Order: sequence, then structure tokens, then C-alpha cells
Amino acid sequence: MPEREPAGERVYRGIAVAGGVAHARILRLGQASQEVPQHRLEEGEIDAEMARFRDALVETRRQIADVQRRVSAAMGAQEAGIFEAHLMVLEDPSLLDQVGSRVRGDRENAASAFHTVAGKYAAALEAADDDYLRERAADLRDLSTRVLDNLLGIVGESDLSRLTGPVIVVAHDLSPSTTAMLDRSKVLGFATDVGGKTSHTAIIARKLSIPAVVGLGDVTRKVRNGEYALIDGHGGTLTVNPTDATLFQYGQIRERRAALDERLRDLRSQPAITMDGVSLVLAANIEDPGDIAAVKESGAEGVGLFRTEFLFLEPGAAPDEEKQYAAYRAVAEACAPAPVVIRTLDLGGDKLFAGQHHEANPFLGWRAIRISLADPALFRPQLRAVLRASAHGNVKLMYPMISCLDELLAANALLEGCRAELRRDGVAFDERMEVGVMIEIPSAALIAPALAEHADFFSLGTNDLTQYTLAVDRLNQRVAHLHTPTHPAILRLIQLTVEAAHARGRWVGVCGEMAGDPAAIPLLVGLGVDELSATPAVLPAAKFLLRRLKLAEAKALAAEALACPGAARIQALSLAVAKACAPELFTEG
Ligand code: PEP
Ligand code: MG
Repeated sequence: MPEREPAGERVYRGIAVAGGVAHARILRLGQASQEVPQHRLEEGEIDAEMARFRDALVETRRQIADVQRRVSAAMGAQEAGIFEAHLMVLEDPSLLDQVGSRVRGDRENAASAFHTVAGKYAAALEAADDDYLRERAADLRDLSTRVLDNLLGIVGESDLSRLTGPVIVVAHDLSPSTTAMLDRSKVLGFATDVGGKTSHTAIIARKLSIPAVVGLGDVTRKVRNGEYALIDGHGGTLTVNPTDATLFQYGQIRERRAALDERLRDLRSQPAITMDGVSLVLAANIEDPGDIAAVKESGAEGVGLFRTEFLFLEPGAAPDEEKQYAAYRAVAEACAPAPVVIRTLDLGGDKLFAGQHHEANPFLGWRAIRISLADPALFRPQLRAVLRASAHGNVKLMYPMISCLDELLAANALLEGCRAELRRDGVAFDERMEVGVMIEIPSAALIAPALAEHADFFSLGTNDLTQYTLAVDRLNQRVAHLHTPTHPAILRLIQLTVEAAHARGRWVGVCGEMAGDPAAIPLLVGLGVDELSATPAVLPAAKFLLRRLKLAEAKALAAEALACPGAARIQALSLAVAKACAPELFTEG
């Protein structure tokens, strides 16, 4: 339950992850299972408590039937069938009797009684030998969260699809897939207790241009549903009960920002070329074919990173080869003749697919190419779909999270097998489709010369490269200050990668969040990268800066930075160059 806070304006500071300012009433999402109150009932309260429990069950049944109807309409009756099991659990007489006897016999409040009984059932299912029963444990935990949300009057993630008016969502955390499905017209901003700047939730917020602040500690305990709040995604604050003066001040910032955006939009059709005539490719990161309109709007030269795993995170069955082919082809055709870099599945980490087991260290475990190589039945349809799409545009394929040469060779061997099948069946594809590797693990940067012999290009994933080099969890707000892509160790790995690629005539892009950060762009240009790929919303500012930068000064900056021992100092040096080129980007809010 929220703590009592004094009336008047309250400002909470966190990590700014997606720019913009918005104000609306707070919708506080809760996770009932984390804060189930326990208390003893008075004799006279028992009947009312049982009635509340029955009401919560009725409401849960209504919600599940509603989801079932929507899934059935979107994906067919078979997929919707899984909810039958949920509905049956809600009618399980033994479970309901046990809750009833704890409430009536032990005078335990219904939420606590249900939480305990459902927890015991789930634990028993988890311990079963049978895979089917173990999967039902997850269903039961899901269901139990819903019942508790209803019992305690807590708004859950599922309620986000039924919003009737504008809100600022305040939650402990939001998953990347929930964030991707937020209704942009209703959710004007969000703030979370945990998270970091390069989490996929933050990345999606930037893509959707939803002002967002993460890492606010225990803000969910300090705000109440319905309080009025202003979120500043540039400055990283959530202001509850803002005064008129605060609202006025932010109104002015918004106006200045809109005027700057207008100016930046004018550059859309201009080339991404430095003041001394060096061209770079400015491309877009996307997660869905629906992002193409924003890519066009941003003036990007194609797509430098298509995070295909998001197609697998949508509700329902994983897309088969045909569905993937249709998605990849649509993007390739929309961008042609500009290139589209399709990255194979990067599931795992903070992007868990249905049924994926929880791991203690998910970023070090069952993730990305490791999953794909272990499961050719999952990987081959994707490779075939990308190859087939390559007949319809300028498609390039890229593998995520390569840590050693063997992984690259194994992936290439599977790809070669798919090429042979398509040739045999007379299916068209681009025989010269480029195949690249993400450099996002330090070991990959260190063996870049060997990888460059078997890859056509590299793309630096600075989000993970920073996480893995500096041992800093990209999701953890406590260590967010250490997630510094300007650390000299990262710069050296970037330098090694660029040198190895260029020595073999390969090109190098950057598709981590660093590529879209105006303060870091002079450094990347100076280090010799050929392409910057970032979420469409930030590309106009990146181009504005690039067109005012000189390669010579960027090179001098990189040389000075490489000789510098500290991340903060390097960041300041790069920022100074960026500010001197384009002060507007740093002063307009
Ligand atoms: C990266 O790690 O920098 C990257 C671009 O990949 P992702 O953010 O999807 O892990
Ligand atoms: Mg990555």
C-alpha cells in the first residue's frame, strides 16, 4: 500500500530514458503477489470477506472470458482454448474449500488465504515430473495474480488494454512486450521503480516517443492512483501535484522542443554528410513492420537493425516461415533500394518467450544465437524466410550475440543448407545477400579479425558490449551509473572492431543506443564507424549534428579519448564537441 506523503508538489528523480513531457492522472499498476496483506478477521467480518472473495472470482472469470474472446477473434478458437484451463481452476472445489476453511476456521483474510493455498498448488505442480503439469503451474500463478489484483483492488498489466482516458502509468516494472503494446493515445508516459537506460523497455519507450523515467526506487509506494502528475522524460523526473508555476515552465519547454523538432524535420531529405564531405549511413532500428512509416518519416536510409524477436513476443503462436517471410518482405519492399539488416532471434535476457524458464543470470544464459543454434526447427524457418525476402529488396542478415568463431561457422553452415534447399526447389533469393555479425560481447571484438573472414559486416551492439565488458546489468538502476559506453575499454573494443573490419574491406555500423545519442556521435565518427542505426525518433537530431561535424575534429577527439583513462572525462570531451557543433540540441529542453 502507498505510504502517506505530504500534500503539495512532490518531485521524484530517476533515470531519463525517453524524452518528452506529459501530464495526466496516475494509474498505479500493482503486483498483488508481492504485497499480500495478512490479518486476522473479526467474527462479524467473515461473511463479508467471503462475499468479497466470491466477487473477485466472478470478476476474474469475466476478465478471462473477455481475453478468451479477443484471442479467439484474433487467432482462432484453438489458441483461445488454453483459457479453459484457467476457468476450470477457478471452479476447483478443493482449492475453494481450502480457502473457505482458512477464512471461516482460522479467520484469515481472503487474500492471504488464497495466496497461500494457490501457492501450495503451484509448488506441487512445479515439482511434478510431467512437462504438461509443470506448465500449468505458470498458469496457476498467472491466475492467482489476477484473483489477488481483483481482491485487493490493484490495477494489473492486463487492465492497460481497457483504458478509457489518458494516464501516466506508474509500475514496479514493465516488460518490453507490454510496453510495445501500450496504447499510445491513452498512456501518455510511464515511470517505474526499476530499470536502466538500455533495457528493451526503455528502447521501446523511445521508439514510441512515450516520455519515460525508470529506476525511481520505490515510487510505486509513494504515489496513489488518480493523483495528478507530470513526467519529464528528458530530465528524469516525476512531479506529483505539480504547481501552476511548474506546469507553465514545462509548457514553455514543450513549445521550444516542438519548434526545434520542426527545424529538424526539414533535414529529412538532406544527406547524412559531415561538414568536410564524409558520408555516413544513418539507418533505423525497428521491432515490427509497422515501424516503417516512422522510418520513412525520419529520413533514415533503410533499417540497420530489425529486432525480429518482437514478432515472437506478441500473444499467440510463434510466427512460422510464411508469416516471417511476409513480415521481412514487407519491410524489404518498403525500404528498397535502401538496405534492411534483419537480425535473427535475440530471445532471452529481458525478452522472454512464452514458456521460457526463469534463469538466475538470463543475460549470461539461454539467449539469442545460443537458442537458435540449439533449435534448428526454430532457426531454419527464420533463415529461409530471410533468404526468400532477400529476393524483394536489399536484405542483409545478422546474427546476435556471437561469442566465438564456432558459433558463426555453425550459423553459416545452417544458412548454407537453407540456400541449397531453396536452390533445389527453384525458390528465388539473393545469392549475394550480405551476412554480418553483431559485436556485442568483448570476446567477439577481440577476435574480430577471425570473424571478419567469415562475415560481410559488423554491427556494434554497444548496449550489450557495455554490459558484458563492464559487468554491469543493463536493467539494474543501482549500477546504471556504471553503464558507460564511453568507458575507455569500450572505445578500445570499438577501435579493434573497426580496424579488423576495414583491414578486410568490411563495413561497421553501431546499432546500440549510443548511436542515437548526440553527445556520443562525435566519438563514434572519430573512431571510424561507417553507419549509425538508432530508433527513428532520434535520427533527425543525429543528422543535424552530423551535418555540422568535421571528420577531422572527430578524429582528434577520438585520439584524445583513447589516451584518456576515465569514462566521465571522455563523455565530457565528446559532449563539448557536440555542443560546439549543435548547441540547440542541448539547450532546447
Ligand atoms: C545492443 O546490444 O547494443 C543491441 C543493439 O542489441 P539489443 O539492444 O537488442 O540487445
Ligand atoms: Mg544486444
